[in-house]
Order: sequence, then structure tokens, then C-alpha cells
Amino acid sequence: MLVVMQSRATPDEIRAICEKIESLGFRAHSVEGAQQYAVAVTGDLHGIESCGLEEMPGVQEIIRISKPYKLVSRESKPEDTVVRFANSDVTIGGEEFALIAGPCSVESREQTLTVAEKVAASGAKMFRGGAYKPRTSPYAFQGMGVEGLKILAEVRERFGMLIVTEAVDTEALEAIEDYADMIQIGARNMQNFSLLKRAGRSPLPVLLKRGLSATLEELLMSAEYIMSEGNRNVVLCERGVRTFADHSRNTLDLSVIPAAQKLSHLPIISDPSHGTGKRDRVAPLALASAAVGADGLIVEVHHDPDHALSDGAQSMFPDQFAAMVSQLRAILQLVHRTLSVEPPKAKVVRS
Ligand code: PEP
Ligand code: MN
Repeated sequence: MLVVMQSRATPDEIRAICEKIESLGFRAHSVEGAQQYAVAVTGDLHGIESCGLEEMPGVQEIIRISKPYKLVSRESKPEDTVVRFANSDVTIGGEEFALIAGPCSVESREQTLTVAEKVAASGAKMFRGGAYKPRTSPYAFQGMGVEGLKILAEVRERFGMLIVTEAVDTEALEAIEDYADMIQIGARNMQNFSLLKRAGRSPLPVLLKRGLSATLEELLMSAEYIMSEGNRNVVLCERGVRTFADHSRNTLDLSVIPAAQKLSHLPIISDPSHGTGKRDRVAPLALASAAVGADGLIVEVHHDPDHALSDGAQSMFPDQFAAMVSQLRAILQLVHRTLSVEPPKAKVVRS
């Protein structure tokens, strides 16, 4: 439910509404629109109609949100969300197209810094790399853990790119909060509800990847778990789903991008690396993602993919990535998005 305030409502009136909602045992979330202020109410809303909210000073109207996801829906917030980061001008969801690149896994300091230097030079503003890896086999490389996070922090210091890395569980998430700028929740954990709730209490933005066989509604409900705990900074990610197709690792579902943008104000980016599984397919699907209106890309790059410890077959060579970025610029012009040529700032100081 959304309590829409009159445009002249005072801060005291808004505070009184929030206090009333909380005193009734519901949760109040402020929603700042361009013109008006609103308060979204979540919880089990049975009986709320008779609580007199509509009659309180400053209230314009009460709107019932018809979708099962509330805070995520466009009904609660018509304007696009632009995710921002502390002490940085990097955004996801605004006019600037978000370009995230890096290896699947942090394998060593040398490997990570080598890839970081290349992708930063090609225009990536954010760096990806898993320090905790969710692998199909328990015998496969599981990631470097905290040592990997320290290497990622060095990448930020040296190249100015912000860091996004996957939390496979709450312990990893807590370590990531000390070193990175954005928490990735992987496809396999999209419905790990306790992990989603913990991410919802984090000060860091969250990159939420679509589950291997999740519907759009299930993806949005998972985003709702994060938002319902107070974290507004959620970015959705299409990374391909399981289908009968056997020419690619997954089927990158590009139609979900405009569909998600219609139902939700949250940004959505595309991962053509996991979406295809093969490096020669990544650039075409990356360009197509930009053309259908994705807010950004997350792409795997490795300087020696034949020896990568994970996902080598889908990792682009750095020069392939550079070539893709120049083609991307042409597409982005057509869809009125920018991709700044400025290299990332040399140093980003975190609060
Ligand atoms: C990854 O980003 O390396 C990864 C494991 O992604 P996903 O969760 O989409 O499989
Ligand atoms: Mn990977």
C-alpha cells in the first residue's frame, strides 16, 4: 500500500504518518518522487483500511499496490532508480551505461591486476571477480576468499574501478562489506531468502542475478526481499536461463529486459558471458543487450582464458573486449545512453 502525501505536506506530517504505520506493526518506507512524497507500507496489511491513515493531515490518497512485489514495483515508484555509490560518480540506471568487466574468479594477484589494467583502459568503470565461487563440483576451485578480496581492494586503489563480487553465504557477505563496493547475489542463491534479507540490511548496493529457471516475477520477489529490509539499491541481472537449446550454455533472455523495466523501477543489466558460455557469442549478445535497453553489462575477461580456473571458455580476450566496447558506443548513441571515455578516477576513497 502506498500513502501518497500532498505536495505541500510538511516533514512533521510525514513523520507522523511513518510513526503511525510503525505503531500499527507495519513497516514504513519513504518513497521520494520527483513531484511528491509517498510512504510505502509493507507487512501483513489485513485491517489497515480501518486504521484512519487516510484521514491524517497531509495525506492525499491511499493506493493499493496490486502486484505481489511492492517496493520493487513501478506502482510504488514511477521514476527509474539510479543506483549510486559512496564517494564515487559511478551510477547504474542513469543515462550513463554501466560497464562491468573482469575475470570470473580472482585467481592470483598477478592475473587480477593484469586483467584489471586492460579492462580499465577499455572503459570499464567497475571490476568483477569472484573471491568466493559457487561451483557445481566440490572439487573445483572454490575461490581465494579474503585473500581474493584484498586483491580486489588493490584493484580499486590502483585503477579506480569499483568492485562487485559474489557473496555465496552470509559469512562471505560480511567479509565483502569490508572490501568491496557492491554485493553480487548469484543465480544459484537468488532464492536464498536468509541471504537476501542479510543483503537487504547491508549499506552496499546489491547485484541480484536471475536464477537458472526463475520467472521474472520470482526475480522481482527476490528483489523485494532485499528492499523490504531497507536496502533500496538493487540492480537486477539477466544471465541466461536453462532451455532445451544446446548450442549455448544458457539462453540469454533479452525480452526480460524491457519486461522488467515495465514492471519495476530498478535498473537491469545483462551478463552475456554466462548467458552464452562461449566467448565468440559474447560481443553480439552484449550489443543486442544494449539495443534492447539494458542499463549495463557485466562481462568476463581473462588474458589467458585457456588456463582460467573457472569459465575460461566464455571469457573474452582483452582485445576482444576493447573491440566490443567501440562497437557498443555506436549502439548506445542510438538508444541515447552515454559511455564516458574518461578513465575511472585513480583513487576512490570509501567512507
Ligand atoms: C559469476 O558471475 O561468475 C557467476 C557464478 O554467475 P551466475 O551466478 O550468474 O552463474
Ligand atoms: Mn563465471
